[in-house]
Amino acid sequence: MVLNRKLLYILTLVFAYAITLNLTPKYFFLRGELKYKNGDYIESEKYINKALIFKPEDSEYRFAYIKTLSELKPNYSVQRKMYDIANSKQNDGAKILAKKKIKKKKQKNKIKKKKYKKKNRKKNKKKKILKKKKKKEWKKNININVGQNYIDQAPSDSKIIRWNKNSFPLQVYIGEDDLVSMPEYYKTSAIRALKQWETSVDFVSFVITDNPNKAQIAIFFKNIPQNVCKSGTCKYVVGYTKPTITRDTLKNMEITIYKTSPKGEYLSDIELYNTILHELGHALGIIGHSYSMEDLMYVESKDESSIFQKYHEDFHYITGSDINTLTLLYMLDPSITDKKQRDKSDLIYTPIILGTNEEIAKKKIIEATKYIETSPELAIGYINLSGAYIELKDYHNAIDALNKALDFAKDKNEKFIIYYNLAYIYSNQNKCSTALKYAKLAKEIQTTQDLLEMIGILEDRLSKTN
Ligand SMILES: [Zn+2]
Repeated sequence: MVLNRKLLYILTLVFAYAITLNLTPKYFFLRGELKYKNGDYIESEKYINKALIFKPEDSEYRFAYIKTLSELKPNYSVQRKMYDIANSKQNDGAKILAKKKIKKKKQKNKIKKKKYKKKNRKKNKKKKILKKKKKKEWKKNININVGQNYIDQAPSDSKIIRWNKNSFPLQVYIGEDDLVSMPEYYKTSAIRALKQWETSVDFVSFVITDNPNKAQIAIFFKNIPQNVCKSGTCKYVVGYTKPTITRDTLKNMEITIYKTSPKGEYLSDIELYNTILHELGHALGIIGHSYSMEDLMYVESKDESSIFQKYHEDFHYITGSDINTLTLLYMLDPSITDKKQRDKSDLIYTPIILGTNEEIAKKKIIEATKYIETSPELAIGYINLSGAYIELKDYHNAIDALNKALDFAKDKNEKFIIYYNLAYIYSNQNKCSTALKYAKLAKEIQTTQDLLEMIGILEDRLSKTN
């Protein structure tokens, strides 16, 4: 009798344990559903999340989870969870719903302010009611209603590079790197451009420093290189901006402005102001260019002489689209910045706006192809195209583009990038001797740490196979 009881007790325990295990996710799920019905979305999210920990692939749980997330304030972590399901491998209703939510938000981002111009009161009232109804929608809650912008063009490759918002005012150094004198208005034009950015964007501010090593933005006036002109035509840019990045940390942005034209003529105050204003846009983090001619960050793609032409004409403005792009840029979680931001709660999870690296690469192929159509004789178009193909791991097309780039490459920098990329692709394909050939060609132009490491690895691999 005693023995029997003991056995029964053990059996019950095992049985109970099994039931509990089975019921646990269901229990959390049902609690979550109940909380959802009562409008307590914060608690609902917690419970359904727990259910998903037990059964991450349960489509019913996933769908309920997206529904709950949709009701929450779309902060960084909510965006991230939504994004993960939208891009998960499992094709189910949850994925479709999550994708829809994210897509709607993206479109929202592109809607122009025009929509809000109202003509009569009736329409006004109707819209107000509609607005109230829609207010609950998740996409409405997200604070990305910044108006027209060209944020897709802002990053460098797929990376957002920008300063921490708390780093403002940024320290700016303005100076010459040699002893050739320049007119007094060179410095004042730079200061005017800095002031223009300060008055246009609320969070932007600068202070001038005498110490170039302390500066986050350094503006150097330099002598133009001797080799920009060949057989009568001169190809060069008036100014350019180069970020210094070490281990994913943004150290500084260096703006170079050439003091004179190749003929030795000084730049006018208009040319200087416009050039510095544009380069400051890059230094603030808009690495790419707008496709819209009115924007400050527009650049004509045909050839460099036309860029110079543009800067002659008139004083340029920072447009609404430029401001919106910068504003949105500083709402996104950066990949590279000067000071890491610990609390990301008020940031936007970047892929929600920019898409996956794959989507960015596909857009880049379209851009690069357009560029090649207008300037088939410039290597840079093919180089950009190859970069996008490398991102997609389409090495066949990448090599094709790089070989074309090689046909048109005019300077050492271009050749270096081409050889480097070819070495990178062939080493990924395990074609070590070809890879080594290109790595060595690149090294003849410039020796970098990356390159030395790559050569070391390739030589090591080759010695083991021989
Ligand atoms: Zn530019």
